Amino acid sequence: MTATLLTLLLSSVLLAAAFGGPWLLRRAAPALAIIPRIAASALTVTALLWIAALVALGPVVAWMSSGPAWLPRQAAEVCGRCLSAASPFGDSALSLGIPAVVPLALPAVGVVAVLAGLVRELVVLRRSQAAFGSELRAGSDQITLLGSQARITPDAALHAFSLPHEHGGIVLSRGTLSTLSPAELSAVLAHEQAHLEQRHHLIMAILNGTTRYFRWIPFVRAVRESVPHYLEIAADQAAQQATGTTALASALLKLGQPEAPTSAAGIPAHAMLHAAGSERIRHLVGAPRPPASAALAAAAGAYAFMLAAVIAAVNLPYVVAVVSGC
Ligand SMILES: [Zn+2]
Repeated sequence: MTATLLTLLLSSVLLAAAFGGPWLLRRAAPALAIIPRIAASALTVTALLWIAALVALGPVVAWMSSGPAWLPRQAAEVCGRCLSAASPFGDSALSLGIPAVVPLALPAVGVVAVLAGLVRELVVLRRSQAAFGSELRAGSDQITLLGSQARITPDAALHAFSLPHEHGGIVLSRGTLSTLSPAELSAVLAHEQAHLEQRHHLIMAILNGTTRYFRWIPFVRAVRESVPHYLEIAADQAAQQATGTTALASALLKLGQPEAPTSAAGIPAHAMLHAAGSERIRHLVGAPRPPASAALAAAAGAYAFMLAAVIAAVNLPYVVAVVSGC
């Protein structure tokens, strides 16, 4: 295989996932909903692997580039030796006529984009949640409700959501307290408790931050949209185990669609994990699942594994070349 063939192969595998991935995720959804915690983490990792494989295209293309002609002679010699030491195709690689530094910069650009997105997400979250948190502490009561700590806001509208502990934890409105029965309240508290214990806010922050500048890719966008759904199902499963299906399903029905208080407007919607969402009831009562969905979920897993292998195969020769001094 030549570097050109490898580039074409890797590009087609990435393109296939970028455009076919959303379809695969939709078809595999019923099987993934049975293992929501694994699905949420695996999808987050797969989106990051896809991005890593995209930027690994750079080092592959570098094997075909003309080398570091623009560098001073001595540096160029060292750099050239490194490149040919790192290339599994040796010096026989086809010359692209561009300096190797151009494609080699791609992984650096990718890492900067991932980190910049993450930092931006964390800054926005910290600011908005801190502002809402101090307003919340001033305008709500902290109580122990059915064994859980919760903040109760005075509004009559139905709110039930959670923020990370340091910014308020579980938040319910007076309206929710007076509308739900004790069994339904227990279910809602167990649901929110699961969000906090399973660190769903952190998973959402990592996913939304690291993929922020890659959300134009259909597959990445589909992962960003489906992970919150699996986290909700994971929290439902915990609540279902704690209080039973009936209490949780009727609480979800009464809460209707998730709605945040207006004072939380600055917080990104994905950072507030609500208990509402009546569309999830069908998962609780065991929606029939198409027989192909488990096979498709396995295919998605195999694809992620293959991406990891490609990334290692592309980057390892460079690491070895640098470590062994070319
Ligand atoms: Zn929730």
